Amino acid sequence: MENVIEAEDLTITYNGKVAVKNLTFKLKEGETLLLLGPNGAGKTTLLKVIAGIHSEYTGKITVLGKSPRESRGYVAYVPQTITLNSEIPLTVLEVVTMGGLYKEGIVHFNVPSEIVKKSLEVLGFLGIKNLANKPFRELSGGQKQRVIIARALMSDPKILLLDEPISALDPKAKATVTSTLSKIKEELNLTMIITTHDVNPLIEIGDKVMLINKKLVAFGSPEEVLRDEVISTIYGPSS
Ligand code: ATP
Repeated sequence: MENVIEAEDLTITYNGKVAVKNLTFKLKEGETLLLLGPNGAGKTTLLKVIAGIHSEYTGKITVLGKSPRESRGYVAYVPQTITLNSEIPLTVLEVVTMGGLYKEGIVHFNVPSEIVKKSLEVLGFLGIKNLANKPFRELSGGQKQRVIIARALMSDPKILLLDEPISALDPKAKATVTSTLSKIKEELNLTMIITTHDVNPLIEIGDKVMLINKKLVAFGSPEEVLRDEVISTIYGPSS
């Protein structure tokens, strides 16, 4: 299996101030990485570098063998819940269609019918085609999250980055979104990185777990990383 992401001694800064330092890790094609760490640990920052939208770093990172900026078209980034709270006055179909309007450097201003067709197929794949004509803002949190994931799939990414996709959801919605991610993993064979404060619902789909706290704390299989003695080094002992 090919490494799709390779980071070596990666240090990420904002205006010279270090956010995450000396990260070294590899991720293989089709693997799902659960990225954990306390608030401010640098999880979102790392996703933004991989997505090619933050480029202030030293060390080395390759995404699909190239620089993150060069691989941008193959990486889809699902941002944190801020989008879920937005009052965008669009239907679900319009939101998903937006994900297909920019590809290979071409922006479409009229929506080609094949993009609408594909949007409906993606919604069908995720089991939410029935929501297509509903206003996005009227959906539940779990439904919104799945719609935003559908939008991300419209660009046929090879890598899907999800920032806290389940954190703001109730337990039932967490389970629904997790099963959506599981389906994507099994049927599309995408490489995924999922940041979370709540690892338990996602544990089944994680091939690897990385724990960071401004630097690498642990990286390995869920069994290796999710041990009390590792977790307690940054979160304190569990009671
Ligand atoms: P959370 O779980 O709270 O979302 P996180 O692990 O995603 O946290 P980041 O948002 O990546 O952490 O933040 C890592 C560090 O980088 C923090 O110290 C934060 O203050 C800093 N940081 C994040 N974004 C910026 C920015 N745009 N400009 C300057 N500093 C930033």
